Amino acid sequence: MPEDSTVRVLLVEDDASEVALIENLISEAPSGRFALISVGLVRQALDHLSQNNYDVLLLSLTLPDGRGLSNLNQVQAIAPTIPVIVIGNVNDERLALHAVKAGAQDYLVKGRIDSHVLVRVMRYAIERKRVDERLTYLAHYDILTGLPNRALFRDRMTRAFAHAQRYAHSIALMFLDLDHFKSINDTLGHDSGDQLLKTVARRLESCVRKNDTIARLGGDEFTIILEDVSNADDIASVAQKILDTMSRSFSLDGHEVFVTVSIGIAFYPTCGLDPITLIKNADTALYAAKEQGRSCFKFFNPQMHLMASERLSTVTALRHAVQRKEFVLHYQPLLEPRTQRIMAVEALLRWNHPEKGLVSPNQFIALLEETGLIISVGEWVLRAACVQSKLLEKDGLPPVRMNVNVSMRQFQQPDFVNRVATIIEETGANPSLLQIEVTESVLAENIPATTAKLRALSAIGIKTAIDDFGTGYCSLSYLKHLPIHGIKIDRTFIKDIETGTNDAAIANAIIALGHSLSMEVVAEGVETESQLAFLRGQGCDIVQGFFYSEPLPAQALPTWLRENMATTIHRIPATGL
Ligand code: C2E
Ligand code: MG
Ligand code: MG
Repeated sequence: MPEDSTVRVLLVEDDASEVALIENLISEAPSGRFALISVGLVRQALDHLSQNNYDVLLLSLTLPDGRGLSNLNQVQAIAPTIPVIVIGNVNDERLALHAVKAGAQDYLVKGRIDSHVLVRVMRYAIERKRVDERLTYLAHYDILTGLPNRALFRDRMTRAFAHAQRYAHSIALMFLDLDHFKSINDTLGHDSGDQLLKTVARRLESCVRKNDTIARLGGDEFTIILEDVSNADDIASVAQKILDTMSRSFSLDGHEVFVTVSIGIAFYPTCGLDPITLIKNADTALYAAKEQGRSCFKFFNPQMHLMASERLSTVTALRHAVQRKEFVLHYQPLLEPRTQRIMAVEALLRWNHPEKGLVSPNQFIALLEETGLIISVGEWVLRAACVQSKLLEKDGLPPVRMNVNVSMRQFQQPDFVNRVATIIEETGANPSLLQIEVTESVLAENIPATTAKLRALSAIGIKTAIDDFGTGYCSLSYLKHLPIHGIKIDRTFIKDIETGTNDAAIANAIIALGHSLSMEVVAEGVETESQLAFLRGQGCDIVQGFFYSEPLPAQALPTWLRENMATTIHRIPATGL
């Protein structure tokens, strides 16, 4: 409250002479303006408080309908934020202490109050109450979004459970997490990240009822308690509404950004009979939603626990695999269909598991990404592929390009280009024979930083291709501004290419698009003669697939290359994974 604004005082006192005295003291106040209303009964005071705003309450302890300090509870129930100064008849320190413990801000003794004391006590009481309120707010709310924080979320859960158990209602608990939030923070900066979280909070509020609790638990984790819910369909429609609302673009500091969320849902009583179990299970369901490819919601089911514990043991095993160097590279040739010339090989990672044998990257790349292990494994891949490239050169084989997959997290490292340059230098590999394959999502992340990195790579002779093209949402308009050498049509479009489906039209369109941007177009997953013939007919530059060869172990590669560079390739028997 500003110094000069009028302080609204409610005096609850039935003794007319006391009222006159206080009025007098207030009118003599050396500073400040006061508006005093007085009533003689507790009941009247409660009516006034419920209908009007007051800045401070002066409460006598000797009222006809009063019950001493217990009147404080009634006042707090109606006006929890009003500071109360109790006025008693006796100078009793214990009573004063009781009053303060019961929630009063101060205690004054009748007959011992002068104008200065009264004004100071009122001002201090107002100030102290405001500080208390602020501290209570800070303890319970998240400053950034204004949503309840973890502490208040716990309180609300306890309350919701008590209510649900009493009235046999159900509760749905949702755990939400923004997909790839970290990369927004890393690329657009923390202010944009904060702005995003605030907007997400507002959008979430628009999806639920007023009495549902939305809390921010920290970082990009939000939770929603939906009380008194009737069936799973209703919850599913709330979850779908959230996904839809979030799918609209966010404008962050001049950038248009698309963000998706994943949602895990657990129900009381079916998925947990106490708050802790329900929270754990909603979190497990969230994890399952992320696993399933993000931007979706999942209801908890008991099998998920099994998945969660399996995942944990895989993460542990992967950490060991990094230490014990259990990774190997296989190499798959890429050929020009017109001439059958071998143009490149793609390095593909495998985990040589001590018990399971060779494990496919589809089973562990996502975990490596999530745990950050991809940084060191990815760097090892680059180095091993460069060493292999140099070996082929030393073996006297004609130059073949080495394609290496680079993950989002790897590419986003600020010093990524320097790291690649160091590896090139240390291995002596020829940079013009190196091509990095990134997915569309990598390019869509932070356009200025990505462009700079692509240019820097291109400046040292390294090419870049977009992998799995057609499965992400790459904006074609900016593709032409990026120094990209080629695109690889995802194998899902190649599978049914000869049957005259939409896939053929998509593949043709991608080939035409690539050529119009002067890019090399590669088709992945070519398995049959007729797929090859179709692609050759459409002018596809390069094909890769089991038709020519499956990925080969490193030791088999030079022989394969030597044999097949000399002859025209027909179908090559499969080896490796
Ligand atoms: P990708 O980069 O698109 O690699 C092509 C995948 O298609 C390879 O699977 C390859 O074995 C498979 N493939 C090739 N020809 C055919 C075919 O004719 N039919 C079928 N059904 N499949 C074919 P792979 O080796 O299992 O790798 C899967 C994915 O894992 C890769 O897809 C890539 O995204 C990722 N990956 C592999 N190695 C690495 C790596 O070193 N780093 C990173 N970040 N990702 C990698
Ligand atoms: Mg690839
Ligand atoms: Mg691919």
